[in-house]
Amino acid sequence: MDLDLRVVSASERLDRIEFNPGSEWLAHAIQLGSYRCPHCGCLSELHTGTLRQHEHDRKHLDPSPWGQSCARLRPLAAAWEWFLDFSCMGCGAPVRLFYGHGGEYSMGSHKYRLLEVVETATWSKGDEAPWVSSQRRGV
Ligand SMILES: [Zn+2]
Repeated sequence: MDLDLRVVSASERLDRIEFNPGSEWLAHAIQLGSYRCPHCGCLSELHTGTLRQHEHDRKHLDPSPWGQSCARLRPLAAAWEWFLDFSCMGCGAPVRLFYGHGGEYSMGSHKYRLLEVVETATWSKGDEAPWVSSQRRGV
């Protein structure tokens, strides 16, 4: 069964699109971005370290209804693209954030650019997330 999902531009939901680990290092300031949930208005924060950590996720096959529906709706590019799954702190709605290579800032080190978000078209607090929670880490 397909879930009722939609793809929106990351800039519609997040207040930061570019994450540059190089300027973080220079400014000693962590670059934070916030996703605003369209269902409850809650903010979920992420930072450069979150993105770096989830680069490994692209190698994991996700057999859950969520993973399969996302893969059909918005397949991952062959290279230099990653995704991050999380659920809204406020209402538990599942979100998949796609991000890519945002250019190099030094030899072999890259910036990140947020691309698109897959989210449920409708969601009520108390709905059960379409994945097995034990497989998930929070943001
Ligand atoms: Zn929410």
